[in-house]
Amino acid sequence: MINFYPGPSKVYEKVPQYVNEAYHNNIVSINHRSEEFVEMSKQTIELLKVNLNIPENFTIFFVASATECWEIVAQSLIISKSIHYYNGAFGEKWFNYTNKLITNAEKRHFSIEEKLSVESTNADVICITQNETSNGTAVTNEIISQVSQSNEDALVAVDATSSMAGVALNFIAADVWFASIQKCFGLPAGMALLICSPKAINRAIVLDRNNHYNSLVFMIQKMKIFQTTYTPNVLAIYLLMKTLQDRDAIDVVHKLITNRFSNWMSFVDSLNGCTHLVKNVNVRSSTVLTITTEAHMVTSLKENAKIAGILIGNGYGEWESNTFRIANFPAITEVEIRKSQSFLLDVINK
Ligand SMILES: *Cc1c(COP(=O)(O)O)cnc(C)c1O
Repeated sequence: MINFYPGPSKVYEKVPQYVNEAYHNNIVSINHRSEEFVEMSKQTIELLKVNLNIPENFTIFFVASATECWEIVAQSLIISKSIHYYNGAFGEKWFNYTNKLITNAEKRHFSIEEKLSVESTNADVICITQNETSNGTAVTNEIISQVSQSNEDALVAVDATSSMAGVALNFIAADVWFASIQKCFGLPAGMALLICSPKAINRAIVLDRNNHYNSLVFMIQKMKIFQTTYTPNVLAIYLLMKTLQDRDAIDVVHKLITNRFSNWMSFVDSLNGCTHLVKNVNVRSSTVLTITTEAHMVTSLKENAKIAGILIGNGYGEWESNTFRIANFPAITEVEIRKSQSFLLDVINK
């Protein structure tokens, strides 16, 4: 099956080999307090910093999911007020989770055709969904940087779940970044990375909120020795380490993804009756394409694709019935893209 689902998505083709290796080398059963684990954890974090251009003084944590990160931000970093900029389902979910945990969460909706408008606010944490997987929009590094500059006392927290490891992110432009590994990292679901600036670490220590197993203060203590507060997904850490060793640096991956995205954009323009959900080219995501057409077309297209061995992403949330989504993630190969484009041309432009 060729998998264009924007998460869980296609995994790197070497994953079965690495899973096998992990089993035979007994990695799957190593103790998470052992020297062996610490060495692997340390190496994985170093690889992440080099490969993704994460500043040396940022701290990387292994957590269970992006959803968990929404809660960690709310429980460990928001002093009293958060503002959530969103234009789609994931950004709204982040607000909803936060709203259950703190009394002063505020949402600011913007349209899918608009850029997030930068303003100075009274929030102490500002939440941005950098790549909105539900509708295929993205917030640029420049805007994130401007939000930080206009809100110097606040922490800026960024959900980059469907873009991290696919496009180059400017980590110094914000304080908290997170992503789960079943999207651009090309790995099986079950782990996420939480990345914090020194300013975020300092906030967590000053607030000293310590009533959860995943309170950031505990996580910081453990990560000083490259460990976690719980038994982590050791297999996922191993797979991450192995695939990072194979991967090109993010600038190279970014170029590949951007080129493929231009190709996909013009390809979509050539499909009869199909248009990009987002008309404004400047706010389109390059890792998740969202294409709109008539609802009955979406249904028959997905069915035909399945028969042809191609999995196309469903629409999501309010765009469920009249859109389909195509992941432009690094683990997908050129051959798979060509095969799928020729299938789409056959079915749609017949
Ligand atoms: C997939 C996704 C999530 C949820 O990830 P989990 O690992 O299931 O928690 C959150 N935010 C965005 C933008 C996503 O694409």
